[in-house]
Amino acid sequence: MTQHASNYSFVVDPPARLHKDASIPKPNISSMEEYKAMYEQSIHDPTTFWGKMAREIIHWEKPFETVKQGSIENADAAWFTDGLISPCYNLVDRHAIERPNDIALIYEADELNEGRNITYRQLLADVSQCAGALASLGVTKGDRVAIYMPMIPETVITMLAIIRLGAIHSIIFAGFSSESVTDRINDSSCKLIITCDESHRGGKRIPLKSVVNRAYPNCPTLTNVLVFQRSPDASTAMEEGRDIWWHDLVPKFPKYCPPAVVNPEHPLFLLYTSGSTGKPKGVVHTTGGYLLGAAATCKYIFDLHPTDRMGCAGDVGWITGHTYIVYGPLMMGSATLVFEGTPAYPDYSRYWNIVERHKLTQWYIAPTAIRLLQRAGDEYVKYDRSSLRVLGSVGEPIAPESFMWYYNVVGQGRCAVTDTYWQTETGSHIVSSMGPITPMKPGSATLPFFGIDAVIIDPLNGKVIEGNKVEGVLAIRSSWPSAARTVWKGHDRFIDTYLKPYPGFYFTGDGAYRDEDGYIWIRGRVDDVVNISGHRLSTAEIEAALISHDSVAESAVVGVPDELTGQAINAFILLKPNAVANVDLEKQLIMSVRSTIGPFAAPRKLIFSDLPKTRSGKIMRRILRKILAGETDQIGDLSTLAEPKVVEHIIHAVHHTH
Ligand code: ATP
Ligand code: MG
Repeated sequence: MTQHASNYSFVVDPPARLHKDASIPKPNISSMEEYKAMYEQSIHDPTTFWGKMAREIIHWEKPFETVKQGSIENADAAWFTDGLISPCYNLVDRHAIERPNDIALIYEADELNEGRNITYRQLLADVSQCAGALASLGVTKGDRVAIYMPMIPETVITMLAIIRLGAIHSIIFAGFSSESVTDRINDSSCKLIITCDESHRGGKRIPLKSVVNRAYPNCPTLTNVLVFQRSPDASTAMEEGRDIWWHDLVPKFPKYCPPAVVNPEHPLFLLYTSGSTGKPKGVVHTTGGYLLGAAATCKYIFDLHPTDRMGCAGDVGWITGHTYIVYGPLMMGSATLVFEGTPAYPDYSRYWNIVERHKLTQWYIAPTAIRLLQRAGDEYVKYDRSSLRVLGSVGEPIAPESFMWYYNVVGQGRCAVTDTYWQTETGSHIVSSMGPITPMKPGSATLPFFGIDAVIIDPLNGKVIEGNKVEGVLAIRSSWPSAARTVWKGHDRFIDTYLKPYPGFYFTGDGAYRDEDGYIWIRGRVDDVVNISGHRLSTAEIEAALISHDSVAESAVVGVPDELTGQAINAFILLKPNAVANVDLEKQLIMSVRSTIGPFAAPRKLIFSDLPKTRSGKIMRRILRKILAGETDQIGDLSTLAEPKVVEHIIHAVHHTH
C-alpha cells in the first residue's frame, strides 16, 4: 500500500495485483489517462459518448438516432427517444440465450445452507410464468404494482415479471408499517400488491401479510393480493376472492412469455426516497437511460464482468438494491447475490462466510454496517476473502477510519475500496472512484462518473465556483442518462426540490468540497451544515474526527442556536461495547476535534446515546435537532425511522446531560 500525505488527506493507490494477476479478469478500464479521456468526451460530446456506450451495452429492438433531448433547465431531459427497447430481454433473455447455464441469482437464505442458485435459463422461465400470472390478474402496460417482500429470489422474479409486461413496480421496504404502505400505494394508485406470508431475518420471523391486510381496506385501487409462501408451516389466513397463493397461480402459466417492448422513456419503476430529510418522494426512473447508467457504473466502478459474482448485501427496498442487486448486475450478465439475512446472524462473521462460499468478487454495503462490524471486533472477519477485488460503500459519508478498516481488515490490502456517492434520484453512482484505477483518498468519494458535470455552487450568490480548493453545494450541470425524470404525480415538486434552487442545475441537497486534485468530499446534507461564527462546518468532518477515537462506534453532530456564535455543536456519541463515558473520555473527544478541525469546531456538549436511523441505516439529524430544541411534539414524520423507541432513549439522554 502506498500512502503519501496530501494536505490533510492521504492517498491509497489501488492494489497493483488488480492489473497484474493473470487469474483475474483484465480491468474494464486500464488507467487514469483512459478515464480522463473518456470523461472529457462524455462532458463535451455526450451524444457520441453515450450513443456508443448505449449501443455496446443495450440490445435495441429499434436503434435510436437521437441520443439526448430536452434539458435540466426545462425539466424535460429525455434520452434515446426514437428507439425501442425491451428491458426484460436485456436483463434476462439475451443471457439465457447465450449462456443459459450461468448463474443469475445466488440466493443466500437467512439460515445457512438453505439457499439455492438460479441460472439465467431458469430465471427466464420463472419470470415468464410470473408475468403470465400477473397478466391474468389484469396487470397491463403502465400499471403500478406494489411489492412488499423480503430478500428472496421471488422478489427479483416479481420485479422482472412486472417490467416484462411494461408495468411499473413500486417496492415498499418490507419493514414499513401498514400506514406507510397505505400512503405509498395510494400515492401511485397501485393495482396489485405482491407479498409473503412472513419474512425470515436474523433467525426471527416477521409477519408481512398481516401488514398488507391492515393496509388493504384503505387502498381503493388494489384489486388483489398475490402471496408467496415463505414458511410452509405458517398458518396464514387468506381472504376469498382477494388473496391468491403464488403456488396456486404462477405454475399454471407457460415458461415463456414474450417481453414487452417500450419507448426508452417509458417508466421502469418508481421508488420512494429514504425519508432522511422529510416526506419521501416517489422518484420515477425511465427505462433506457436508467439501465444504461446502472450497467455502465457496474462495469467501470465495480469493474464488473459477466463472469463475476456481485455481492450487495442491501435490500431491494432501496435504490441500492434496485441498481446494484438487480438491474446493473443483470444488465452485465453477472451473477448477483440475494441475501435474506443480517450481518449479525448467526454471528458477525456471516458476510465473510457468504463471500467464501460463493466466491464473490465485489462486496457492497453501507457505512452503518461497516461500523457495526468494526465495533463487533476483527476476530469475526474470517473465512477466505481472496475472491474479492472491489469493496464498495454507499449511503452516507464514510469516515477515513472506517474506510481504512474496510481496506486493511476486510480487504487485506488486496482490494480497491470505492466510496460511491449517489441518490435515489440519480439512479446510479455519480461520484466514485473506479475500483482498479482511481487513487483513493479515504473520506472522499473522489471523481465524477462519465457524463456527470459536477459543479460546486456558492450557496450565498448561486454562482458556480470554478477551480479547486472550493467549498459549497454540489450540483450537476446538464442531464445524464439515469437521472430521475420526475416525482410521481408531482412534476412541480420535482422542479421545486431539484431544479429551482439553482436554475440550470440539478441540486443534490448535499454540501461538498473540491480539493486541490479535483477530488470531491461530500460534507453531508446542506440542511445539516453547522454555522459557527461564520465558519460553515460539515457534520461529516466533525463526526469523522470523533469516530477516529478508539472508544467511539458512531456519532452524529448537530448545530444548536447560540447567542454568541450563531450556532454551537452538540455531538451524540454511541460508544463501543466496552467503553465508558467519563470526563477523561469527553476531554479526549473534544481534543480530537480541536486538533483535526480547529478549536472553533469543538463540541459544546457531548451526549452519550443511541442514534436515530432510517430503515436504510442513515442518521436522521433533524430528529436530534428537534429533541435538543425541546420540540419533541414537532418531530414530524417518523415512519421511516428504524427503531421508533430510540427517540425516548435520546430524550432521556439529553435530559441527563449538562
Ligand atoms: P430523502 O431524500 O427522502 O431525505 P435520502 O436522501 O436519505 O432521503 P437516498 O436517496 O437513499 O435518500 O440517499 C441519498 C443521500 O445519501 C445523498 O443525498 C447523500 O446525502 C447520502 N449519500 C449517499 N451516498 C453517499 C456517500 N458515498 N457519501 C456521502 N453521502 C452519501
Ligand atoms: Mg435525498
